[in-house]
Amino acid sequence: MGALSLPRKVSVLGSTGSIGVSTLDLFAQARVEVEVVALAAGRNVERLAAQALEWRPQIAVIEDEAALPRLRELLAGSGIRAAGGSAAVAEAASAEAQWVMSAIVGFAGLAPTLAAARAGAVVALANKESLICAGPDLLRTAKLAGGAVIPVDSEHSAIFQVFSPSNAQHVSRLILTASGGPFRGWSRDQMARATPEQALAHPNWSMGAKISVDSATMMNKGLEVIEAAYLFAMPAERIEVLIHAQSIVHSLVEYADGSTLAQLGPPDMRAPIACAFAWPDRLPWPAKKLDLARTGPLTFEDPDLERFPALRIAKSALAAGGVAPTAMNAADEVAVAAFLGRRIGFLDIAATVEETLTRMDRQNLLWRTENDPVEGARLTDATARRVADEVVSGLMAPA
Ligand code: NDP
Repeated sequence: MGALSLPRKVSVLGSTGSIGVSTLDLFAQARVEVEVVALAAGRNVERLAAQALEWRPQIAVIEDEAALPRLRELLAGSGIRAAGGSAAVAEAASAEAQWVMSAIVGFAGLAPTLAAARAGAVVALANKESLICAGPDLLRTAKLAGGAVIPVDSEHSAIFQVFSPSNAQHVSRLILTASGGPFRGWSRDQMARATPEQALAHPNWSMGAKISVDSATMMNKGLEVIEAAYLFAMPAERIEVLIHAQSIVHSLVEYADGSTLAQLGPPDMRAPIACAFAWPDRLPWPAKKLDLARTGPLTFEDPDLERFPALRIAKSALAAGGVAPTAMNAADEVAVAAFLGRRIGFLDIAATVEETLTRMDRQNLLWRTENDPVEGARLTDATARRVADEVVSGLMAPA
């Protein structure tokens, strides 16, 4: 390990979630000597406190202020500072860490991610919503501050590992692979009756609720297309999606000379997290390795945009540009929450997103230009949530 140049001071935002837990587990498995500056979470105060007592951060932050007294109680006598509220999360994100895992789910991750980028940290980016809502601004901010944004999403990590920036003009296509989710072979009629439990049962990955439902609708892949467009400065027409049910080939880059480079690995998020942590080095840890002779056939097919309209909607939002991706993301967050709360059906998720974008376009709300792109994203997010709520209420109304 001596020859590696690894970050020493780290923070984990969204530490209690699927990616946050995997990040801390990777640190433990790799036996890296990290000094945890901050851990931040939403509401799971018991898990946050347990993590804090194990990892001894300078500060533990719970976004839900009502849970702060309990956090204080659990950390009493430990010497670990406890804080609460969204401003405290953003403040902790900009503390002295050299490497920050951005793994809060949803639009709530934007402000802390930007704060970490502004502070010049290397941001390991799982929170794809920050890129969707303020991609160019986030990347510019990181660059100006002397930091970097390294993707954690397995597909973007794959592309990042085989994308040669000096040959960017000779990249003809980025090909994002998609498992197809739990409803890959289902008809629209079957999907109309899908329950939250079925949508949450992803065949290959164990993830948080929001991204699991997004994988089932394939909105996750739509968000990833937008993410790739920003991260790799690639136009929408050169980003394609390929269904690959086994989740072994994580994505591919096709070059103009006819060579296609892919990155492969077992489906385990600790691998892309390790890549983002050690880049440009490679972190030794007891990772499960691929055994291709025993993996079985790898299959590839085109996505079906009729059965999975979310992918088409996301591509249109990217093509529309401006704040359309932000509005789409907000509408999707509202629709997924409504589906998980059993207020709308599974097919209503994409329908809600599309109807929200149509209504906002009709009211000329998708073209607003703001001097401050982050403030613009915030306003758009709030407007889209209101419109999406109206659409959801309409869907719930008895016919
Ligand atoms: P989870 O739902 O498992 O975890 C989300 C985390 O965010 C939790 O720690 C949660 O805290 C925290 N959180 C939620 N709201 C707030 C808030 N307002 N302020 C501070 N913290 C908050 O999600 P995942 O770990 O699955 O996903 C996290 C991000 O990573 C998402 O953007 C997702 O798209 C992305 N991603 C995830 C992958 C995966 O395999 N899971 C793969 C690729 C990307 P608490 O639980 O305490 O409320």
